[in-house]
This record gives sequence, C-alpha cells and structure tokens, in this order.
Amino acid sequence: MIRFYKTPWIVKVFYPSLFWQKPSNDTIYLTFDDGPDAEVTPWVLEELDRVGAKATFFCLGTSLESNFDLAKQLISKRHLIANHGYHHLDGWKISVSDFKLNMAKSGKLIDEVGGQSKMIRPPYGHISRSQLRALDSIDVIMWSHLSWDFDRRIDPIRSISKLKVAAPGSILVFHDTQQSFPILKQILPEVLNCFSDRGLKFETLQ
Ligand SMILES: [Zn+2]
Repeated sequence: MIRFYKTPWIVKVFYPSLFWQKPSNDTIYLTFDDGPDAEVTPWVLEELDRVGAKATFFCLGTSLESNFDLAKQLISKRHLIANHGYHHLDGWKISVSDFKLNMAKSGKLIDEVGGQSKMIRPPYGHISRSQLRALDSIDVIMWSHLSWDFDRRIDPIRSISKLKVAAPGSILVFHDTQQSFPILKQILPEVLNCFSDRGLKFETLQ
C-alpha cells in the first residue's frame, strides 16, 4: 500500500476551488480532526502551549457534545474550532442533502461554542462536486500533508521525516483521538520542535 504523506498535485488540479495550503512565508497551519477527546486533546494543548502554537480543530459534533467544556477551553486559548460534520460520514456515499444536514447539525454546536461553522473539512476529504456547489460561501479546507497518525502500522520516524520538511503555508493533518494517540505522542513533539527550530510560526486558519 502506498501512503501519500504529501497530497499529489493531480488531486489539487481536479479540485482547484478547495484550500490545499495557505500562502505564507513564515507560518505552518496545524489541524487536528475528529476531536475533542477528554484525554488526547488536553495533551495536544500542552504540546501546543510549549511552543506557543495556535491550531485549528475540525471537531465532530458527537465529540463536541460530550466534551463541550474542553471545546470552550480551546476557544479561550485562541485556537480555532471548525466543522468536520456531526457524524463522520463519507461524502462520496451520501446525498447532497444529507451532507448539508450533517454539516448544519454540527455547525449549530460550533457556533454555540464560538467556533467557525462555515469553515469545513469533509471527513476523509471526500466531497462531491454537487455537494461543493451546494455549499456556497463556505471555505472547504483540505490539506497538503497527512501525518497518518491514525494508522498504527506506520513507522513514526518516516512520518516525522515527511512532515518536518513541509514548506511555509503547508496545512498538516493530525487527529486528537484515542485511535491516533500512540503515534501522535511520538510524532507531534518532534514535528513542533523541527518547525520551531526553523523559526516558523503556527497559526489558526483564520
Ligand atoms: Zn475525520
């Protein structure tokens, strides 16, 4: 199996209207999907604080509901909460209206907590052209680099070496979930140190 750490250029050509990176010469954009999680997210927050990093959390509605206070804490620390849907549904397998409903349901919770419901990342990065058209005036954020932290078969050293060479403006994906925690624990501190040593900043996507 081939694991693409960097998004292949051909994918970006097919979906030019999505955000794959954000122009910048001194900033890296860290994103964390599928949380918040009562154990993993506080650890992530400590790591981010250690290097003064701000990040964007694409939260699931179901995770938000069970960890609402934690979500408020993210906002009070000036991180950004954005929309990953209420359930983790695959856009390629559901209708346009179900896609919109799923985003709207989590969007309500995100607005309530003080996040940005109009910034979305579709689960698995899967969104059809008709779903995209139906989401007028919403920013759809993909990524330039995937950490593969959810895959316990990967070699964390390989992930670190692929991520740490990312150029300014890159959007990196991690997951603040129990599934990812064993790998995340190994790669996130190293990646943060590498970028800090290069003098790069970490900001939210907004
Ligand atoms: Zn996800």
